Amino acid sequence: MIHIDIIAPVYNEEDGISAFLEELEKIAVPLLRGPDGERDIQILLVNDGSTDKTLGNLTSRHYKMPVKVVSLSRNFGHQAAVWAGIESSRENAYVVVMDSDLQDPPKELVRIFAEFANGGEVVLMERRTRKDTIVKRGMARLFYRLQRALAGQSTFENVGDFFGLAPNAKKALLSHQESVKYLRGLVAQLGFDRKILQYDREERPVGRTHYTFPKMFALALSGLTGFSVSPLMWVVYAAFFGVLLGTSLIGYVFFLRIFSHKELAAGWASSTVASMTMSIITLLSLAIVALYLARVVQELKARPVYLTHKVEAFGPNSTHELDLNDEIQ
Ligand code: UDP
Ligand code: MG
Repeated sequence: MIHIDIIAPVYNEEDGISAFLEELEKIAVPLLRGPDGERDIQILLVNDGSTDKTLGNLTSRHYKMPVKVVSLSRNFGHQAAVWAGIESSRENAYVVVMDSDLQDPPKELVRIFAEFANGGEVVLMERRTRKDTIVKRGMARLFYRLQRALAGQSTFENVGDFFGLAPNAKKALLSHQESVKYLRGLVAQLGFDRKILQYDREERPVGRTHYTFPKMFALALSGLTGFSVSPLMWVVYAAFFGVLLGTSLIGYVFFLRIFSHKELAAGWASSTVASMTMSIITLLSLAIVALYLARVVQELKARPVYLTHKVEAFGPNSTHELDLNDEIQ
């Protein structure tokens, strides 16, 4: 039997959470008995320090299927809440992560489960359309453009935090140890058998986004700094350019002093040489610091060096896949 945990982070969603759960159950209950056999589905809600009546709404509800509510001690933010959900999921369970405000339509679970049944291990949901405000859409576009320019392509544009993972991909994701998690970036670089499905992202029916401008900015920064040290490399390139300019200017000063008959202003040559020398030393020091800083950033994340997809055994009697937890003999 296949086990699936549907994870949804919930933060101050008192007005909309019941509608979400109703819709989710309407879709998920019939999926308990799918064409590919029985499914053991659990809803895993992470209450991210809600301060309104959300928790009361969750706990007083009558559910038609198994539900687990994990309450965090305070508000840790969307990314941390999702991480908490993934870590709390059952070890052998597939997971689907979705928002709890009905922007990620529960009906898409049908397609995600079908991909799981087809061998999909990382199922990414790409927004074909989104009904967010113009400001939000504009900011998102700007961010992805900036990210591509600065850091190269590290995520898929229009893929947010609506995705599904098979147990092996989930285990690989959980082996990433950095404390600031930029999930869509981590999930995008997992590898494994990846499927991308397109969907139409809905409007938020009630309440309003919790992604205020500062939160969006923080998410964007963690995406940029967490996935690339190339902005630091830009400091290094700028330093090389400055050094080149400085040495040329010093050369020019010497050239004028030795070969030119023109009168130079008193003190011009010496002050130019002095200031250029200092600039060169400063820039070179900055470049060296940037290089080491880049290294520190990479080491500090303590990311796994590699992620194993499968281990298979071959021999005269059998060809079979080993559980990665099994000891290889
Ligand atoms: N959320 C959360 N903690 C937060 C902010 C948001 O758990 O600090 C949840 C929220 O309840 C929702 C999801 O994360 O289910 C996405 O948040 P939101 O709808 O505010 O973001 P948007 O869809 O506008 O990007
Ligand atoms: Mg939303």
